[in-house]
Amino acid sequence: MPPASLFLSAGRIEALQAFRTKDADAVTLHLAVDPGGLYPSALHQLAAEARLDPALKALSRDFDLIEDFVTREFVPGPHRMVSVHSCAKRGLFEAFGLPQPFKSTLRAGTSLDLRPLAALGGQYHRFIALLLGSESARLVELNMGEAVELETLVGGNLRKIAARAAALARERRADRLILGAPPALEAAFVPLLEPSLQKELILEPVLGPDRPVDAVLERVLHNERQARMVRESVLVHRLLDEARQGGAVTGLEAVAAAVQQGCVSRVLVRDGYAKLGRSCGKCGHLSVEHRSCPWCFRPTESVLDLVSELVDRALAMGCEVYRVMHDARFDGVCRIGAELKVPVVKAPQPPTARALRGRYSTKDGRPSPLRPR
Ligand SMILES: [Zn+2]
Repeated sequence: MPPASLFLSAGRIEALQAFRTKDADAVTLHLAVDPGGLYPSALHQLAAEARLDPALKALSRDFDLIEDFVTREFVPGPHRMVSVHSCAKRGLFEAFGLPQPFKSTLRAGTSLDLRPLAALGGQYHRFIALLLGSESARLVELNMGEAVELETLVGGNLRKIAARAAALARERRADRLILGAPPALEAAFVPLLEPSLQKELILEPVLGPDRPVDAVLERVLHNERQARMVRESVLVHRLLDEARQGGAVTGLEAVAAAVQQGCVSRVLVRDGYAKLGRSCGKCGHLSVEHRSCPWCFRPTESVLDLVSELVDRALAMGCEVYRVMHDARFDGVCRIGAELKVPVVKAPQPPTARALRGRYSTKDGRPSPLRPR
């Protein structure tokens, strides 16, 4: 469990979003964490490239701090990505783990790069769990696979506890409240809650005030996985349906074209899908296998993972990126697909020979001289 100060609270996210600096010296590292443990060497390579960039020369202290943190202090645990934000000149250093990986980058700018966080924000709820007993109540906050103990209320005044839970839910910007209480207590407590909290309330009678925080987290993660599976199934079904009618495209080549034309609203990608591709050094055009750029005709370079490059472009345009973890139907058709903002109007089928004969025959049944051959 992280200390309360390191838990990714809504307040902490807002502070990071508001951070601005004049000199483009706010450094952001996003590093995908691989199960094989090769991520530190990926970081050293990113840092070595950044140190060679004359524009980033003044930021070597930030790179040192970031490298030091990732190699010595960071414990991957269940995280699949680590984000580190540093501005040594203004005393900022923040790090957190994320449950899904995106492209590894090391960038500097006048604000922090929080795109992966924004992309995931809509996919994970922020919960406050109220673990209620007759003598005491505990409040725990949960978000993106992390939990933090907020406070313990002693004494069984249910009205007071309901008011405190409502205040905390507002203050911490929780999406939903989870109530863990024995049935008799639950029946007495629920009517005292604010109507807005009652409407979205999740009842978990198996959770009580004596449950360890890890057990609460495990229970919530289990429910979240179930909910994700349902949403995934809905999204995959819709994508495959839309693909038949021109409202979506499937396959790497079609998705690459659609993303770069800016006409994508949501990308679905199979977790772990990676593929070599080509990139134009001049205009940045990405393709599956164009040896020379179709736009500026220059020779292209190979990119290690075209899929994560495309996902990165999609994030920059504010598209939702949904990682498909379970659905086997999706694998059967493609490993990447995209819903389009505007459906493509499919070209009409060319007429058959018989239809042409009908259209271009003369009155006596002989072919017309106008008939195309
Ligand atoms: Zn080009």
